[in-house]
Amino acid sequence: MRRFVLGTAGHVDHGKTTLVQALTGVDTDRLPEEKRRGITIELGFAPWALAPDLEVSVIDVPGHRRLVHAMIAGATGMELVLLVVAADEGVMPQTREHVAACELLGLRRAVVAITKVDRVGEELAQLAGEEVRELLGDRWEADVVLCSARTGLGIEALRTAIAKALRALPARSAAPRARLSVDRVFSVKGAGTVVTGTLVEGRIQAAQTLFVVGAKGRQETAARTLHVHDHVVERAEAPTRLAINVAGLAKDDIARGDVVTDDGGAQATRLCDVTARAEGRMKHGMNVTVYVGTARSSARVDVLGVGEGERRTVEPGEASATLRLRLHEPLVIVGGDRFVLRGSDIAGPAGAVVGGGTVLDARPPRVRPRSKRRAVLEALFVEDATATLRALVNEAAPRPLKLDGFTTRFPLSARELVKVAEGLVSRGELAKIKGTAVMARSGLLEAATQARALVAEHQRQAPLDRGMPRETLRRRLATTVGVDAADEAIRLAATTNAALAGDALVVEGDIARLPGLGAQALGAGDQGSPVETAARAIEEAALKGMSSFGIGEVTGADMKECRAILAKLVREGVALVAGELWFSRRAVDALRARVIVHLGTEKRLTIADFKTLSGLGRKQAIPLLELFDREGVTRRAGDDRLPGPKAV
Ligand code: GDP
Ligand code: MG
Repeated sequence: MRRFVLGTAGHVDHGKTTLVQALTGVDTDRLPEEKRRGITIELGFAPWALAPDLEVSVIDVPGHRRLVHAMIAGATGMELVLLVVAADEGVMPQTREHVAACELLGLRRAVVAITKVDRVGEELAQLAGEEVRELLGDRWEADVVLCSARTGLGIEALRTAIAKALRALPARSAAPRARLSVDRVFSVKGAGTVVTGTLVEGRIQAAQTLFVVGAKGRQETAARTLHVHDHVVERAEAPTRLAINVAGLAKDDIARGDVVTDDGGAQATRLCDVTARAEGRMKHGMNVTVYVGTARSSARVDVLGVGEGERRTVEPGEASATLRLRLHEPLVIVGGDRFVLRGSDIAGPAGAVVGGGTVLDARPPRVRPRSKRRAVLEALFVEDATATLRALVNEAAPRPLKLDGFTTRFPLSARELVKVAEGLVSRGELAKIKGTAVMARSGLLEAATQARALVAEHQRQAPLDRGMPRETLRRRLATTVGVDAADEAIRLAATTNAALAGDALVVEGDIARLPGLGAQALGAGDQGSPVETAARAIEEAALKGMSSFGIGEVTGADMKECRAILAKLVREGVALVAGELWFSRRAVDALRARVIVHLGTEKRLTIADFKTLSGLGRKQAIPLLELFDREGVTRRAGDDRLPGPKAV
């Protein structure tokens, strides 16, 4: 059995409500005022068992021009439109306005009922049909049926046409969340607060935890009972009309337009970037009313551009405008949501509807360069996940792009974007920053180069300091790239990397310094001294290393003097000790960088791999590997090494 939501559309008094009653047996004009005036004011709802396999919720909308807002609210969740046109009047202003609104909301399938044919001849009725076909153009898929609710003529044909159109609707894809846009709130004696609306996606189960999100923020509740058209159900699946008895909330806690969802992350927003089609002329700075779901808010329009071009005005009929909407009331908006914009005058061909479209970014950053923002929106518009991620990285630069918070933000799924990011990280285009963020590898290299330059500058300014305080360096870098990327940049600057100019930073405790500068200072004071001789010998021995006995030999120093010389060289960042051997720090830094690159691609380092990488024998290989183990660059697994926590 399939369940559908069918909605009416059409000018006031054209016979929508009468036709719904003829089809379903339900009079949807239930308010006393509606009965008295013979006009629909609120949305009406009728269950309709159309066929053994077709269960339909019918939404009957008001046609009056002052009630178009209710019509748009009702159109949320509709899958098929029953467009009602009176044979004696033909296409009228709200016929056009309703069609425009439905189209902007993404609807493209309709059954057209040319009704009241008992009032006119066959010829006039056919003419009205032609008029409607012209209005719908080839954008819509629609059958036209001539009928009369009064005589019953054509009602059976209408039923058949609707059943055929419903069966032809594509199956809906699984939704990541349940969502119902509230259109009514009331209290029932003994039961408490009840909300109704169209469940537009997902499913809701009795007793399930839910959130009511809207102007009052996010309120937690539970579904006490569920009703689908006055029948108690255990669970409801979209699309359907649904009434929920919500636990623990008063009538005043909820308003029309609020969203009931099982998504704890849903939130209201005042800012969103969209792609839109213009029905009337749209100007930068104009005031409009935005309709999303059953909610609405006044808003200011910023025109970001049209197509590829940067423009401030969108002409009627242009379909690829990118806009920023600044809402006065926060609304619950999800990337991919459809919306309608209406202006205050009712002059245009589509009534007051000036445009509408699809939300591309439900939580855009407030201030960003316009060209970078447009690149993001263009990539989202063509649904290119890789281009979107690259544009987002570029937009966030020089700071990293945080990968959390993508859920419900874009029409593209958060999971897909994160997967793309991981792919670009493993290809080396992006660098991971603190696990949940990424930035361009080139940007990180730039920051690392800047780190070296800042330290060099510091050492030139204050040659007597041991180096630059690490925290000062971190804070200076953080002003451009943020703290997380600053830490990453300092770590990168401390490795030997072919892509980086200058010497590797030496980070010792809370000090960062450049060994080159230290060695110069050293050389100036200790020319030809035993310290200088030892430094040169160690540098020349490189990864072969030297024993303290060897140092004694080249310098002629005794054991005690040797220990003092080596301590000084370690302090200056020229040498380091591993096992029994003294190594050039520069050479070990370079080797460490090669090991990290190897682990990055191979994920495992054997002793043989290491010997190939370093060109060393066992005597040096073992103490150096143990040094890397201690540093956390490698992690021992049997005889092999795996990446350690510092091997990123
Ligand atoms: P709505 O505003 O589109 O919902 O229109 P209603 O269903 O309220 O109908 C408006 C008026 O048209 C009412 O007086 C109806 O009795 C009348 N009407 C509706 N359908 C027909 C029909 O098929 N033939 C005739 N002659 N009158 C109709
Ligand atoms: Mg009506």
